[in-house]
Order: sequence, then structure tokens, then C-alpha cells
Amino acid sequence: MNAYPATSDFTAQEQTNEFIYSLSNNSLCGLEQIEKTDLHCHSGRSGSLHYLLKDKKITHILQPHRFESLNHMQQFYYDNVKKYFRCKKDGLQKRWEASLARTKDDNIKILVLSFTSSKIKFVGGIQPFIKIIDQLHAKYAHNTIFLPELSFERTCNIDLEFEFLDEILEQNWFKSIDICNDEFAQPIERFKKIFTKAKEYSLR
Ligand SMILES: [Zn+2]
Repeated sequence: MNAYPATSDFTAQEQTNEFIYSLSNNSLCGLEQIEKTDLHCHSGRSGSLHYLLKDKKITHILQPHRFESLNHMQQFYYDNVKKYFRCKKDGLQKRWEASLARTKDDNIKILVLSFTSSKIKFVGGIQPFIKIIDQLHAKYAHNTIFLPELSFERTCNIDLEFEFLDEILEQNWFKSIDICNDEFAQPIERFKKIFTKAKEYSLR
């Protein structure tokens, strides 16, 4: 049996045909309208530029024709987005909001959205954090099946993160865990106790 209910009136084949047609014709508009599943998305940086910058009254930014590398993309993000949303609390919440708001615009029906563990404390701990995100989900993406993911920065202090892990996972809110950022920061083996604990709570 399928784990999730069918979300569309269109058959899978019809959607596939539409997807191929839109892709072949460079139609972003067509691609947006097709129902999608996004299984790996970072909450701090997946909002649309337009959505984020409209309140800042920035109507035009110079987007490169293409990104030459991941570093180039990262630099563009810092220079054009993050610098306007540096404030740990308000700036972060605006970026979370943008991530959920684009779910509707991009017609995403199932979303795995990751949140970095270190950011939870910026808004006062796990309970205020869940309240904020649940409200954003209800307001901007209530038709999307939402599967929040807890992400650990590869540079993090593992002992410190582990101290708060029970408190976070006891809420039974996160569905999976992930590791992000610099893959060379420390050996993956050090994260074993975090993954073991996550497994005890049935996270994927
Ligand atoms: Zn990632």
C-alpha cells in the first residue's frame, strides 16, 4: 500500500509527459505547475529570491548566467541574500518562511525540509521552534505533506549537540536526520552516537 494518499487528479503518465514537454521547452512556468516531491531541501536557503527581497524593496539583482562552482553559488548567496538576513532570529525566520512559501508556488506535495540543530536555540529552544514552523506550515503549505529533518553541521561540537538530542527528539516531530556542510571538518565516525540515538527514536 502506498504510504501517502494520491495528491492529484492527473495520472502519473500525464504528469510525466507534461514534465518532459516543459523541460524540453525551457518552461519554468510549466515545471512549476507539475506536482513534485522534494526529498532534500535546506530550510535556510530554499526560498525564492523574489519572495525574500521584495520586502527589502530590492527589485533587481544581477544573477550570473550560470554558476561556475558550488563556491560561486555560495558567494552569490552571501552577497545577495544572507547579508540582508543576518539577524539570527528575525532573518532566520524570514528565510524559513520563504522556504515554506515557495512550496505552494513550486507545487511541492511532499517536502523534506532540513533544519540545522544549532539554529533551534536561536528561537528559544525546541518548543518555540516547533510552534514557529508549524504555524508557517499551516499558513503557507498546509496542502503539503511535511517531513521535517534535523541536520547537523559537520563542524558542530558533537558532545554539546548530543546533550540536547533527547530533548529535541522526545517531541517526536523530526522524521529524519542529516549531516551538512564541510565534509572534511571531522570524521563521520564521530557522529555514530547521534545516529544511534536517532535510530532509537525511529528517525530515518
Ligand atoms: Zn544538503
